[in-house]
Amino acid sequence: MTADDRIRCRQRREQRRSSGFGALCAVFVGVVGASAAHAEWLGDSLDLMGTRVSVDLWADDEARGRALVAAVLDEYRRIDAAMSTYKNTSELSLVNREASDRPISISAELFELVEDALELSMLSAGAFDITYESVGYLYDFRARNRPSRTEIDTRLGTIDYRLVVLEEASRSIRFARPGVRVNLGGIAKGHAVERGAALLRNSGIRHAMLTAGGDTRVLGDRRGRPWLVGIRHPRLDDEIVTRLPLIDEAISTSGDYERFFEEDGRRYHHIIDPATGEPTEGILSVTIIGPDATMTDGLSTTVFVLGAEDGLALIESLAEYEAIVVDASGRLSYSSGLEPGDD
Ligand code: ADP
Ligand code: MG
Repeated sequence: MTADDRIRCRQRREQRRSSGFGALCAVFVGVVGASAAHAEWLGDSLDLMGTRVSVDLWADDEARGRALVAAVLDEYRRIDAAMSTYKNTSELSLVNREASDRPISISAELFELVEDALELSMLSAGAFDITYESVGYLYDFRARNRPSRTEIDTRLGTIDYRLVVLEEASRSIRFARPGVRVNLGGIAKGHAVERGAALLRNSGIRHAMLTAGGDTRVLGDRRGRPWLVGIRHPRLDDEIVTRLPLIDEAISTSGDYERFFEEDGRRYHHIIDPATGEPTEGILSVTIIGPDATMTDGLSTTVFVLGAEDGLALIESLAEYEAIVVDASGRLSYSSGLEPGDD
């Protein structure tokens, strides 16, 4: 199976799945437009998943539009409650506590998201690896805590996506070694906006923008013109690297400025190289554009770890995905479908 085949499988499954309800940091330009008598732009946002999540949509009927905005926010809350490692009561926390001892039956949604994560691990030879958390949990970026090299070395053997064993028949997950932990922070926000988008699409909404931190999914256009999503400059707060017109697409950015502290001139940030157990070096931000927000989210983290050269090579192998990489010297690299002047 080629990389593209895998991704297509995932998209087909996503379409089947859309039964109910689917950084850096994008800066959104002009989300709310003029309102007409009955049809209008409606939206809301809240702090969740360690970031800001939001939805804006065009509704023909105000009451129904408001109900759909509330339903999307509920969907975000539901996903956070199931998949957060910060909540002891989440399904994922239960898995982290017990899956080294016995197989744990999990929801179809969590099972499929872990499957997606493992696919990305295979595509990237382990650059994307949700078991990074086996060491990652020792970092606390707010408290400026990081593990010592010795602490990392004693646990490094538990970072390996092949230690996550899924069994389809019983829809269960187990870890093949003690000490393994997983964290879906590199893919769950994309999943949340993709689920929110599916909910809206199934309810007849044709124009919407859904955001969770650096992950954005747009439905349709902004009524006659594309949505414009700006990519934030990784070092200059109010500056935009470029602005992209998007219709019916997803865009995700990963940046080393999202969560970090500095010590002895080194920036310790939240994207961990599974090979070393330490934050990656050499990339400031990665933006991925493509049809599916779960994939753009996972791929932005993946390319961040792989670096510009290997990361862009991976993106070139995926027909529907494009990337913009900003390296440590501030240089921008684009995948071939996005080369400036290509428009
Ligand atoms: P953000 O969460 O800021 O939008 P990303 O999408 O890049 O940025 O996700 C970063 C998150 O991904 C980290 O906070 C962590 O939870 C998770 N993560 C870090 N390193 C890896 C890795 N090598 N593979 C998979 N997930 C990772
Ligand atoms: Mg990501």
